[in-house]
Amino acid sequence: MKKTIATLMALLVCFTSIYLALAEDDNDSIWDVSVSNPLSWDQTTETNDTVYSNVPNGVNVYASKDEDAEVVGNIPYLWGITRYMTIGDEWSKISYEEKDCYVKTSDITTERPYEIREETYDIVRSASDGTTVYTLPDENSEIVGTIPSGWGVDRILNLTNGFSMISYNCNNYFAKTNSLYHKVYLGNYIITYYCPCSICNGPYGPYDRYGNRLVDGTAAVDPSVIPMGSTFYVEESYGLRRCVARDVGGAINGAHIDVFVDVPHNVCENMGNSRKPVYIYTACE
Ligand SMILES: [Zn+2]
Repeated sequence: MKKTIATLMALLVCFTSIYLALAEDDNDSIWDVSVSNPLSWDQTTETNDTVYSNVPNGVNVYASKDEDAEVVGNIPYLWGITRYMTIGDEWSKISYEEKDCYVKTSDITTERPYEIREETYDIVRSASDGTTVYTLPDENSEIVGTIPSGWGVDRILNLTNGFSMISYNCNNYFAKTNSLYHKVYLGNYIITYYCPCSICNGPYGPYDRYGNRLVDGTAAVDPSVIPMGSTFYVEESYGLRRCVARDVGGAINGAHIDVFVDVPHNVCENMGNSRKPVYIYTACE
């Protein structure tokens, strides 16, 4: 019995000294000794693989493997980075700005889930029927909201799967690329205005040359310059005026657009006759 106790004591001393020796090692030791439970440690596995950020807002980089540790950086969505090892189920050790740092393993992936076509960092517009915002570049993902028609949208990435990463409510989300529009400058056009009076519109009154009732925004164009039916925008002092090419006129040739306005003739007459920038919106690709 005494012999057994002595043996146990010896073993205890032995284990304690091993433990102390291990505990003296710095945090980066592959023997990652947990302080709270000295008899267990996280399994570390050397990987030396490339991993990718799988968080749309970017992956937090920690100074040590502790969620309360200092965040020393952020790896943008889909960026690749070299991982040295996994530490337990929760943490991965990486090199970040030439320092050893840690990311949560659940924030990264070994295969890039989506491919980037281009980093865009442009401002585009939401579609005329609004742009649906998704949590992931996947139409089956959760819908976060809808951006109203014509709003400016900060676009960050164009992915190859038909989605773009956008900034919405201070977070990175996704929208279908073809629900976002680019503003394209067509040129400076002579812009005149017409009302339903006989001076402006002869015998046609409140109708266009095709017999359709004139509405605000109807525009008479030279169809060889602007295709009939197309929507375009005239830059007015107050902003953009949305027009649709629906009418023609004998005096409307070349870079000249006559915009219908439903106002008294004296008001119409004073609206001017000058060159103004004209834009169209085309869907992003
Ligand atoms: Zn008139």
